[in-house]
Amino acid sequence: MGTKELHYRAYRPRPFTKEERPRTTILFGGLTWKHERLIQGSLERMGYRSMPLPQIERQDLDIGKEFIDVGACCPTTFTAGNLARTLMTLKEKEGEEALKNNYLFVTIGACGPCRFGQYHESYERVLEGMNLKDFRLFLLDLLQMEQSAPGGGLEISMPLTFGLVYSMFYGDLITDMEHATRPYEVVEGSTDAVVKDSVELLYEKLRNRPIKGKKIDSLLWHVFTGYFVDALKEVRRLWDEVEVDRLRVKPRVKITGEFWLQTHEGDGNYNMKRWLEKEGAEVIPPPVAVWMDYLINMELFKLEDAKGFVKKYYLKKFAVESIARLYRMVYNKLRKALNNIPNPMPDQRKLKDLARPYFHYRLTGGEGHMLIGKALYAYKNKQAHMICELSPYGCLPNTMSVGAMAKVLGDYPDLLYAPIEVKGDAEVHAYSRCQMILTEAKRRAKEEFEQVLEKTGLTVEEIRNFEEDHPELRKATYRVPHYGYAGTASNYAMHVAKLMGKI
Ligand code: SF4
Repeated sequence: MGTKELHYRAYRPRPFTKEERPRTTILFGGLTWKHERLIQGSLERMGYRSMPLPQIERQDLDIGKEFIDVGACCPTTFTAGNLARTLMTLKEKEGEEALKNNYLFVTIGACGPCRFGQYHESYERVLEGMNLKDFRLFLLDLLQMEQSAPGGGLEISMPLTFGLVYSMFYGDLITDMEHATRPYEVVEGSTDAVVKDSVELLYEKLRNRPIKGKKIDSLLWHVFTGYFVDALKEVRRLWDEVEVDRLRVKPRVKITGEFWLQTHEGDGNYNMKRWLEKEGAEVIPPPVAVWMDYLINMELFKLEDAKGFVKKYYLKKFAVESIARLYRMVYNKLRKALNNIPNPMPDQRKLKDLARPYFHYRLTGGEGHMLIGKALYAYKNKQAHMICELSPYGCLPNTMSVGAMAKVLGDYPDLLYAPIEVKGDAEVHAYSRCQMILTEAKRRAKEEFEQVLEKTGLTVEEIRNFEEDHPELRKATYRVPHYGYAGTASNYAMHVAKLMGKI
């Protein structure tokens, strides 16, 4: 009896041609709705039709489990389920042929010791499970400025890449403004409204941005133009109108954890940021830009490690350092347009050094050493009262970081740390765990504020009276300097005391 030979056949997407571009919609997802709307503006400017996947919902977890292996980490399961739900909806609405011919999905890939290097394989299982092997799914390399997908219909050129980088920066900065403002807004809902208006304004700016040059001239224009800063100055005027009350004493909670889970805003992480705000906290959100900064700096650190073996070492080092400096310079220029309210990016070398006694930076995967570095950085620099670390269920890199954190906590018993394991379907457990640490963080914030009042000799009434004569203090865009306290109310009281000549 003859045996049939079985061959593994890797998924290869059908080509996507330039002629198909005007009638083909690019589906993409994985970030916040703000980032995705801005990315849409950048894609549309380059002539692509695009559509972000719908917001992640609890049902995506169950759908994902049906298609991919049960051991997959929680972000993979959620995002695979989200893609499956989108394809099901489109198939039902427009039919299978239209779905295959008029849509495609683009995702980012990288290699590494974690699921991130295999996301596309999970997505392929979705296509297989739905009998949609002809549907096109393209994987782009995160670190390539220029690349194209088979067929030439999708070309990632320098102008598009820079548009995407600015979309990321804008999305991060607006998110930072949002979380610094909403806990203190005087009119409920005013922050959400201005976030929406800001994102729409920036979407239009990205969609209508001039395309100057293709290679080095494109780089120079994007780095040195005033176009993007001017757009943010318009945004700042919108935020000027939002009134805040910074005398509300709140614990500041820094979010850390796995990349997707910490940046996500939805059911994928139990809406943790909104929940913390409802519980009376101020949240410090993690910018996507920090992760790119981490990747750039990792190249530099690797180069330094191999110094003795690298040809043209100083030239290469200069090149990577210049990229890292330009990246940071642009981010800071944009922050300045918003009066430096959004937080600066942490120094990657400091993060690496802080984490070093507990976690070697060459252990990559997930957030690597950053999880520890960020927690210690926030603690030592009095940036936050508490760290809320979001760990995905089924994530190997995070398990390692959390294990190393046990030693950190032994050395810094005063560090308030809430490690939350996110499975996607156990929010009661997660909230209650977070609540326990938050209660202590609230107590510390209150105590800290009382100490400031005692130190400055000020009363809340006196601060209120001073505010009446200085209404600019109650603008969301008024920057309060850091006086060495974790809480916003404490730093604000110190600032008013300084303005009054009391310190
Ligand atoms: S870091 Fe963890 S959660 Fe994130 S993709 Fe990798 S395995 Fe999944």
